[in-house]
Amino acid sequence: MNCPLCNSAQLQLFHDQVWSIDDGKVFRCGQCDITFLSPVMDDEQERRFYRQYNEHVKQRGVAASGSPQELHEKSLAAARERYAVISRFFAGAESVLEIGAATGAFLQQLENPFRCAVEPAQDNRQFSGQFANRAFADIEEVPEDLKFDVICMFHVFEHIRRPVEFLQKCLLRLRPQGGRVVIEVPNIADPLISLYGCTAFKDFYFQPMHPYVHSVESLRKVFGEAGLREREVICYQRYGLVNHLNWLAKGKPGGNPDWQRIFGDGQDYKEALVRQGLTDTLFYVAET
Ligand SMILES: [Zn+2]
Repeated sequence: MNCPLCNSAQLQLFHDQVWSIDDGKVFRCGQCDITFLSPVMDDEQERRFYRQYNEHVKQRGVAASGSPQELHEKSLAAARERYAVISRFFAGAESVLEIGAATGAFLQQLENPFRCAVEPAQDNRQFSGQFANRAFADIEEVPEDLKFDVICMFHVFEHIRRPVEFLQKCLLRLRPQGGRVVIEVPNIADPLISLYGCTAFKDFYFQPMHPYVHSVESLRKVFGEAGLREREVICYQRYGLVNHLNWLAKGKPGGNPDWQRIFGDGQDYKEALVRQGLTDTLFYVAET
């Protein structure tokens, strides 16, 4: 077997279980540093999987949303938190395209004059229309003469099986000078993996929806290959100490009022992780 991204044979078994599938394994490439699942779904399996996506999401303990309105309300807090981290990359941009916009909770935060959404799920796409000038079902439907100042995607890039090809599609729709791509992805340096090696977490974390889990290094390779220049990397820690203690003590996520009382919001803990680059989340910003 070779790395699906760089074709190197220099691979290491990283974990021997993938959530919800039999005989799934996780490998890490010694050449490009990508962590990837094997086997990976083919086009038909992927179509079938996404048709039952709500079912999978429900099984993972995230309540399937009854309506776009409900999903939207649940998404707003995360959208605001995200915008607080990256708002400066949107300042002054005339046009923004969000890929995988869901109901438009992030687009709603923006004040840029021209905003567009790509969202495959029809009901969410229709809902996002109130925050977007135009909404498309697929990147291929976005006219190439719309040159955006910023293209962004949050927890989308790790779903994409051919990331270089995908970035090239983005590039065709990006302002050729100073156009910007802003992404947010899960980071393989997540402390529950890299610091604590929590098996229960890894069993849950590696999932068929994410053929890849990126690191700063693998993002550099992928974006570089697509012809984009790195502008900034932001390590961001979303989950706090109490969540980590739950994983370590009970093998599952959750809160605990007693621990919360002792450790508070754990801001120092998060900051320490950020200083080491051992965070659950990465923002990567690149430019044309
Ligand atoms: Zn590789």
